[in-house]
Amino acid sequence: MPIDIERLKALEKTARQLEPDPATLQGLFKQTEAYARAFLDKIYDVPAYIKTSDQGFGLLSSPIQEQPIALNEALQLLSEHVDTPGINPASGGHLGYIPGGGVVHSAFADFLADISNRYAGVFFANPGAVRMENMLLRWMADLIGYPAQAAGNLTSGGSIANLIGIVTARDAQQLKAKDFERAVIYLSKQVHHSVAKAIRIAGLKECIVRHVPLDNHYRMRSEALEQQIVADKAAGLLPWLVIASAGTTDTGAVDPISTIGEIAHQQGLWYHIDGAYGAFFILCDEGQQILKGMDRSDSLVMDPHKGLFLPYGCGAVLVKDRQKLLDSHYYLANYMQDTVSANEELSPADLSPELTKHFRGLRVWLPLKLIGLAPFRACLAEKIELARYFYEKIQRIDGFEVGPFPDLSVVTYRYVPKRGDANAFNQKLVQKMHEDGRVFISSTVLDGTFTLRAAVLAFRTHRDTIDLALDMLRQKAEQLAAE
Ligand SMILES: *Cc1c(COP(=O)(O)O)cnc(C)c1O
Repeated sequence: MPIDIERLKALEKTARQLEPDPATLQGLFKQTEAYARAFLDKIYDVPAYIKTSDQGFGLLSSPIQEQPIALNEALQLLSEHVDTPGINPASGGHLGYIPGGGVVHSAFADFLADISNRYAGVFFANPGAVRMENMLLRWMADLIGYPAQAAGNLTSGGSIANLIGIVTARDAQQLKAKDFERAVIYLSKQVHHSVAKAIRIAGLKECIVRHVPLDNHYRMRSEALEQQIVADKAAGLLPWLVIASAGTTDTGAVDPISTIGEIAHQQGLWYHIDGAYGAFFILCDEGQQILKGMDRSDSLVMDPHKGLFLPYGCGAVLVKDRQKLLDSHYYLANYMQDTVSANEELSPADLSPELTKHFRGLRVWLPLKLIGLAPFRACLAEKIELARYFYEKIQRIDGFEVGPFPDLSVVTYRYVPKRGDANAFNQKLVQKMHEDGRVFISSTVLDGTFTLRAAVLAFRTHRDTIDLALDMLRQKAEQLAAE
């Protein structure tokens, strides 16, 4: 069959629509800039939470189809149906879960990374992008106190970082399928659920998981850990992994990082620290005291999209011995044979399950370079102070009681009504807070008790936000108590 040149021409004509003409490109620049500016202009005034009731019909009634729509129409859909309902994570009023905020410098980095579309997975393809990522990971390893032979990977978030750490631990401890039912993992009930998920995805769900008892600050009791390991060994089991939290999500508790490291080392266990929420507090003096001993771990997770306040899509895993990380994740492929020759640097693709990936390094590098470290250190120290401030103030409001003094920047508290069920009361209080929405708080259950949380980590959260939260809590609790 001869090639039909006319058809090829027609296809080309339509295919070329993928490339915006100069006027369209100009419109994209201008209108998205205007949209972003309008969003940022009002970010300190909009609610942190909005509940809408349209159930997404506006968005869903505009399906993907052959014909394009105009940019202003698309931005209208985005504004109304995506950027309005639900939590506004860019707001400083976000005091729920673990916020971060999303420093805008990263958005410009993402923009540039997407325009150039550099391939950050393999050194050969883009030595600069890989050097940049490795430099950032080296910087993080230095913060933790890991040696020169450490390596790491910038992931999409803490969950994948935990998965990489646990898979590396499994292989480094030479665990075989036949051993799984005797192999013991030690962690606390307060460990993040992504750890349980990672254990399952790593094929380890048959392992014995010991929940080490907690002290009254929800920290793992290290002497109980040691006793349990010794008892398990005596019973012929295979203790192989201990996972500590450098800041639990629920209460912000920091396990006794250093002592657990000693025990893990003595007993020959792999020591993994989940610092997705808390590890970047090492950047401020208060944090350094609290997080002492993280260098004793074999692997560690830290989330730039939490503790460095970056927009979502950036976690990190570090492994003390790069060979172990490599052993679990390297690959060989005939079609990529050109890429293995000049390996000055480790390639991300050899250190994670991903091959092609977003050039995440740029969104970490640009804000750090343009802002410098001092404001990050100050912002983290401020968040610890704000949590302590909240802790002090909330217990002075009639009816409120607090949990333990915060290790980092999460405070637990609740209202104790003079009569009636406290759990039901606090549940209503959260609902009232959500209906208002100026600040967003979340709740949890601790030892069967419905408990409120204030998690201070959004970079736009300052003292006025905390005062507003305290005011709202006082008013709404009074209203509910009067009902
Ligand atoms: C947020 C969090 C995770 C999960 O990280 P993602 O970035 O949400 O995937 C894991 N551990 C802790 C302690 C966290 O706070």
